[in-house]
Amino acid sequence: MKLPIPVPRSRFLRVKCPSCGSVNIVFDRASTVVTCLSCGEVLAEPTGGKAKILGEVVEVLT
Ligand SMILES: [Zn+2]
Repeated sequence: MKLPIPVPRSRFLRVKCPSCGSVNIVFDRASTVVTCLSCGEVLAEPTGGKAKILGEVVEVLT
């Protein structure tokens, strides 16, 4: 039996764009594709739950 992953609430992440290096704030349960404000690179994709983060998470904001 698998333990549920403890995700009590959604959070915001600071994600560094792999393309241009600028840091964007990304909601970790984003329901739409999140793109870099500077270059348009996709930083997060919705999965139906927690978003798939494609950039580098530099900080979790709680
Ligand atoms: Zn970028």
